[in-house]
Amino acid sequence: MSEKDQVLAILARKIHGDVAGRTIERLIKVGEATDEQLSQALGIEIGTIRRVLNELYESRLVKYRRVRDEEQGWYLYYWRLTDEYPTRVLEERRRRALEVLKRRLEFEKNNSFFYCSSCGTRFSFDEVADNMFRCLYCGSDLEALDGSLITEKLEKAIKLLENIKFE
Ligand SMILES: [Zn+2]
Repeated sequence: MSEKDQVLAILARKIHGDVAGRTIERLIKVGEATDEQLSQALGIEIGTIRRVLNELYESRLVKYRRVRDEEQGWYLYYWRLTDEYPTRVLEERRRRALEVLKRRLEFEKNNSFFYCSSCGTRFSFDEVADNMFRCLYCGSDLEALDGSLITEKLEKAIKLLENIKFE
């Protein structure tokens, strides 16, 4: 298995789940297959295979070759792996992760937090203000939490992601 193919299989499984991972691995093995062939080889219902193939296609992890069946008059789709390195997929993941981290950072900066040392739960100001700053789960007194460490970590992660370029 080439490095590119390995990356594709890992991405497929992470993003679209186990069936997607197995589908990609099958395509790596046989090169090209129809949805029916994949369904039979993997022992997975054809509807599921089709849904997964569409998801993989949208992520640009697979592509297809369409062949008209002259006798039946319909089209057969032969699926295979994409030839491109999955930069677009990675770029999209990067952008999404960056958004989540930035939103989280914003939230951390605009809120103060409280910590329960008895049960280890963290609460925001709004969550515990009505509860007289006692833990919502065990009723213990809460400590105010210094958020600078989390903020620092988030800022570091954001910087890291901002400097990666896939495209
Ligand atoms: Zn507690």
